[in-house]
Amino acid sequence: MDAPEQPADPTPMADCVLCGKPTEYPETVRGIVHCPVCEWQEAQRTACSG
Ligand SMILES: [Zn+2]
Repeated sequence: MDAPEQPADPTPMADCVLCGKPTEYPETVRGIVHCPVCEWQEAQRTACSG
Protein backbone atom coordinates (compact mmCIF):
# COMPACT_ATOMS: atom_id res chain seq x y z
CA MET A 1 0.00 0.00 0.00
CA ASP A 2 2.22 2.77 -1.20
CA ALA A 3 0.84 6.25 -1.36
CA PRO A 4 1.73 7.96 -4.64
CA GLU A 5 2.59 11.14 -2.82
CA GLN A 6 4.08 11.31 0.60
CA PRO A 7 4.46 14.52 2.52
CA ALA A 8 7.84 15.51 3.79
CA ASP A 9 8.96 13.89 6.96
CA PRO A 10 6.99 15.72 9.66
CA THR A 11 9.63 14.98 12.25
CA PRO A 12 11.56 18.15 12.99
CA MET A 13 15.27 17.79 12.61
CA ALA A 14 17.58 18.68 15.43
CA ASP A 15 19.93 21.59 14.96
CA CYS A 16 23.65 21.07 14.81
CA VAL A 17 25.20 22.02 18.14
CA LEU A 18 28.15 23.59 16.37
CA CYS A 19 26.75 25.59 13.48
CA GLY A 20 23.01 25.46 14.10
CA LYS A 21 22.18 23.95 10.76
CA PRO A 22 19.59 21.20 10.50
CA THR A 23 21.00 17.74 10.95
CA GLU A 24 19.94 14.40 9.57
CA TYR A 25 18.74 13.42 13.01
CA PRO A 26 15.26 13.99 14.43
CA GLU A 27 14.87 16.14 17.51
CA THR A 28 13.90 13.04 19.40
CA VAL A 29 17.53 11.99 19.32
CA ARG A 30 19.13 12.77 22.62
CA GLY A 31 22.60 14.09 23.10
CA ILE A 32 24.85 16.01 20.80
CA VAL A 33 24.00 16.03 17.13
CA HIS A 34 26.10 17.33 14.31
CA CYS A 35 25.23 18.21 10.75
CA PRO A 36 27.02 16.18 8.06
CA VAL A 37 29.69 18.83 7.71
CA CYS A 38 30.51 19.15 11.40
CA GLU A 39 30.21 15.41 11.79
CA TRP A 40 32.86 14.98 9.14
CA GLN A 41 35.07 17.58 10.77
CA GLU A 42 34.68 15.91 14.13
CA ALA A 43 35.60 12.59 12.56
CA GLN A 44 38.71 14.11 11.06
CA ARG A 45 39.68 15.64 14.38
CA THR A 46 39.10 12.41 16.22
CA ALA A 47 41.11 10.51 13.67
CA CYS A 48 44.06 12.84 14.15
CA SER A 49 44.05 13.04 17.92
CA GLY A 50 44.79 10.52 20.57
ZN1 LIG B 1 27.23 21.76 11.93
